[in-house]
Amino acid sequence: MNAAPDIRVVHAACPHDCPDTCAMRVTVENGRAVRVQGDPEHPTTNGALCTKVSRYPERTYHPERVLTPLKRVGPKGRGEFVAVSWDEALDTIAARLTAIAARDPEAILPYSYAGTMGLVQGESMAARFFHQLGASRLDRTICASAGSEALLATYGIKAGMHVEHFAESRLILIWGSNSITSNLHFWTIAQAAKRQGAKLVCIDPRRTETAEKCHEHLALRPGSDGALALALMHELIAHDWLDHDYLERYVDGWPALRERALQWPAERAAAVCGLTVEQIRGLARDYGTTKPAAIRLNYGMQRVHGGGSAVRLIALLPCLTGAWRHRAGGLLLSASGWFAGRRDDAWLQRPDLLAGRQPRTINMSTIGDDLLREASPAFGPRIEAVVVYNSNPVAVAPESRKVVAGFAREDLFTVVLEHFLTDTADHADFVLPATTQLEHWDAHTAYGHTYALLNKPAIEPVGQARSNAAIFRALAERMGFDDPCFADDDETLARRAFLADRVDLDSLERRGWARLDVAEAPFANGFPTPSGKAIVDVPGLGVPDHVPNNECAETTPELAARFPLAMISPPARHFLNSTFVNVKSLRAVEGEPLLEIHPDDAAARGIADGAEVRVFNERGEYRCAAAVSTRARPGVVVGLGVWWRKLGRDGTNVNELTHQRLTDIGRAPSFYDCLVEVAAA
Ligand code: SF4
Repeated sequence: MNAAPDIRVVHAACPHDCPDTCAMRVTVENGRAVRVQGDPEHPTTNGALCTKVSRYPERTYHPERVLTPLKRVGPKGRGEFVAVSWDEALDTIAARLTAIAARDPEAILPYSYAGTMGLVQGESMAARFFHQLGASRLDRTICASAGSEALLATYGIKAGMHVEHFAESRLILIWGSNSITSNLHFWTIAQAAKRQGAKLVCIDPRRTETAEKCHEHLALRPGSDGALALALMHELIAHDWLDHDYLERYVDGWPALRERALQWPAERAAAVCGLTVEQIRGLARDYGTTKPAAIRLNYGMQRVHGGGSAVRLIALLPCLTGAWRHRAGGLLLSASGWFAGRRDDAWLQRPDLLAGRQPRTINMSTIGDDLLREASPAFGPRIEAVVVYNSNPVAVAPESRKVVAGFAREDLFTVVLEHFLTDTADHADFVLPATTQLEHWDAHTAYGHTYALLNKPAIEPVGQARSNAAIFRALAERMGFDDPCFADDDETLARRAFLADRVDLDSLERRGWARLDVAEAPFANGFPTPSGKAIVDVPGLGVPDHVPNNECAETTPELAARFPLAMISPPARHFLNSTFVNVKSLRAVEGEPLLEIHPDDAAARGIADGAEVRVFNERGEYRCAAAVSTRARPGVVVGLGVWWRKLGRDGTNVNELTHQRLTDIGRAPSFYDCLVEVAAA
């Protein structure tokens, strides 16, 4: 008689770079994960995962997963490796890093981002390791730092509304967010509000799946969001749709902002934004007269030169109307600030191991330039080694030609911790097999809701995979790092990540998640700034204004004449940055790399739907298929990303065209501030 199967359900958390940070339940049958589902009890997950992550077992047991340490045997970039033992890999890596560190530890660079958002497999043991080493520090700017720093400068905290309260809003502006693709659980809440009579307005250059389902869509030009916010303020002032009492009590610098907004009548903004005056006035009327009104801002709109200033302006809108007084009014860009002071960052990352050293900081968004830089007094030593984890810079960093040239340097020692042979792993000297979320411990904060989560391992590591923390622990041991913190195991790191007096650890243990104690209407009575008020005139930044793109007819007319189309590169629906591109069932839905182009722009260039096109500018060229569609507004093309280069038509992706110039605030890349021309191939 067959034995009954051993079936268990384990609490887990989605590790991906998505505001929803879903609570998951993993069903394990005889030691194998067979199903991943949304936790029906978790209030924002509400029992549902997105299509991408519901295929997590497919990704975990993917036949192409890296399951042993690999050593390079071919030219860099070709992805030719042989399997080696953990001992050989770790001994060699430790010896190389030790030799480089003996000359100058700043020649070693960690490179990581949000491949996992976990506190343990992100920056815990890794941070301890690089702090002890005295390696260069990494400025982690590639996604969100323009908006994050703008929010911090304005509100004193990177935080906003509870996402659940959007269900009670009467007007929701979905600004710079394709929520159906990248914030699905917010979209479910917005749908509930819609059923109760709320109006949904989407503000996005692209007619996204989300825009199609809103009552209105304002397809503004990329990089014009700040001008739109100023014109909305102008209308609010002109019609006195202001909450004077709120402005008086809780906004520092209102007269200066008023003066700035009065310079932006709807006519001026309409010309900048590519909208009609009526569209702007109609939106202002809705926003000024509907209560409660809420804004779901997302990070796409801040990936332009003036992205930080635009976020500051939009963040001030609910201060004019006093929308913050109601729990269903205000704005949500990030909730991550609510977790500060609730997790033990100093213990997790141990910056004290630097022991007074102040290593230089390298901006991850300029990795293309920096890998190619020679040693100099200003820069410091040439980068001799890069350790990449939770990131795929060869695919996702801007201006790929330089990034690829940098990672192809024969004298660069590159170690990549990965699940798959990505474009970056193909350039590694050693690839180390990392565990997936189903195989390791972790603890999670979120940036789209206010629940802490605990991820327990559901299955044993697949193949010889080890967790990131275990890999850095093993390297620390070989390199003679003897602080007791290098002995902390993953479970200890996960269980101690949150502070016991600030997070309900019992709930974390029992349910896998715990709600933070955050006020219902957090800014109804002011902001956590020294004055208790939102700040308009930020020291060093001044009063915010619209900042035009680096590349546009206004600032670079000669360039705009040669490359007249503005390109944005938002994620394709079934990918999450460059993650999931190799999951065949998801790639099959996406088809192939596409460039959406408006029928008028296509006709002017003799481009038919489905035809192969060359997308090019001074930095490079990218070939893909044209999707002639009104999803793109005239003058704007949409290169859906982020495809792995090696899966593209010509071994490149959209980042062949993007540049490394940074945003006005936050030192972030301006991916969506990019002029191109398109031609039939
Ligand atoms: S990617 Fe986002 S929506 Fe999908 S399961 Fe993860 S957190 Fe949820």
